Amino acid sequence: MTNVTWEVVQRDYEKLRAQFPRFCGCDTCRGDVLVFALNRLSPHYVSTRQGEVLTELNLASDQERAKLDVILLEAFRKVGLAPRCGAKPVQLM
Ligand SMILES: [Zn+2]
Repeated sequence: MTNVTWEVVQRDYEKLRAQFPRFCGCDTCRGDVLVFALNRLSPHYVSTRQGEVLTELNLASDQERAKLDVILLEAFRKVGLAPRCGAKPVQLM
C-alpha cells in the first residue's frame, strides 16, 4: 500500500528545495517540512502500481494539488525561519 500524497510531497519537496538554495535541507529540516505538509494534507492510499499512477494524475489535476504547493511553501518558510538543527534562520519569501 502506498500513500500517493507522501510520494508527491517528497517529489515536490525536491523541486522546491532547488529554488531555495539558502534553505538548510539537512535531514532534520527536510523531515520537518515533510511532516508539516503531510499533517495538513489528506492521504490518498492506493494498493497497486497502476492505481498509484492514476491517483497521482487525479491529484495533479485536483484542487489538492494547488493546496499541496501552498502548504509546502508555508512549510519551507516556517522551517527556514526556525531550523531545529541549529542552522542560521533564513527568510525565504
Ligand atoms: Zn537543517
